[in-house]
Amino acid sequence: MNNSYQRIVMASRPNGEVKVENFRLETVPVPEINDGEVLIRNHFLSLDPYMRMRMEDVKSYAAPQAIGDTMIGGTAGQIVATKNPKFAIGDYVVGMQGWAEMGVSDGTLLRKVDTTHIPLSAYLGAVGMPGMTAWYGFTQIMQAKPGETIVVSAASGAVGSVVGQLAKLRGCRAVGIAGGAEKCAYVVNELGFDACIDYKAGNLLADLAAATPDGIDAIFENVGGEIFDACLSRMNPFGRIALCGMIAGYDGEPLPIKNTRVLLTMRLSMRGFIVSEYPELWPQGLKELGGLAATGKLKFRESVAPGLAAAPEAFLGLLKGKNFGKQLVKLN
Ligand code: NDP
Repeated sequence: MNNSYQRIVMASRPNGEVKVENFRLETVPVPEINDGEVLIRNHFLSLDPYMRMRMEDVKSYAAPQAIGDTMIGGTAGQIVATKNPKFAIGDYVVGMQGWAEMGVSDGTLLRKVDTTHIPLSAYLGAVGMPGMTAWYGFTQIMQAKPGETIVVSAASGAVGSVVGQLAKLRGCRAVGIAGGAEKCAYVVNELGFDACIDYKAGNLLADLAAATPDGIDAIFENVGGEIFDACLSRMNPFGRIALCGMIAGYDGEPLPIKNTRVLLTMRLSMRGFIVSEYPELWPQGLKELGGLAATGKLKFRESVAPGLAAAPEAFLGLLKGKNFGKQLVKLN
């Protein structure tokens, strides 16, 4: 085994759009493990939109990323040394080792995973935190009944793709919104949504009206701004909104919402949520998602960047819609 590995730290806070200069690649020695700890070689790093919010020193649901520390991040890898009886060398695990090729853990935040029927990388996507986010928002907040129309933005992505597939499995009409014809074709033809609107085509309101002839009963909001506003204008009475993300504003752009009046006139319920705050529901959600993925009923797609050094560019791309499916980094 090498006696050093690479990691990426946050070099500085972004001022407006995040840039590659905000990150720094470092080579550090492989640490010794103490009793109760394991050493993990990470095979995949998950890149997620929330990381952009953590890079800012503002009041939020979690403490900001510290300058000079390894960037926060979910990882999937294999145990390479262990002094913890719960883990054996070779076990596949998912954890939060950050933007790093290796990591030490005391096991508390590690989840052993079975790669017999589900590839390791999927535990960072459809059968991991993003899938669980979709499951939570769909089952606990949208509470859509068969025959109802749901709309989800960023529909080809890690979270959105799962929302629409769960909605179809429960007999809903699933309408996605995504950027570009290729992503929309995938959402309808591969994922089985009833319709997908290309918000970049320039006819958002008219296209949304055509795709939701009976109005919208529940929104899964991932983007915010203009897209959210357009969906609000189509809401039916007593509609539900799972406010999951507002990625259009993470890099500093303002996100005006004009249609707030419909919250009143349509008597809507809107709830923001952070999926990590519901650990008691994860076993139930992941069991359902794992079962669906293992039997091919839950489809997913990945964009994989090669090597840790490629992570900053891939992260910038994620915030601009360059990813197509779950954004991962394959580590060496
Ligand atoms: P995705 O895999 O969907 O990737 C992000 C996608 O967002 C891009 O591919 C792009 O799709 C879209 N996007 C990016 N910038 C813009 C923009 N300016 N305007 C419109 N669309 C944009 O990411 P995830 O599935 O991981 O995350 C989706 C959302 O869910 C995010 O908002 C994220 O913060 C949120 N989230 C919330 C959690 C929670 O607990 N509340 C947990 C996990 C995720 P396109 O090309 O189609 O525009």
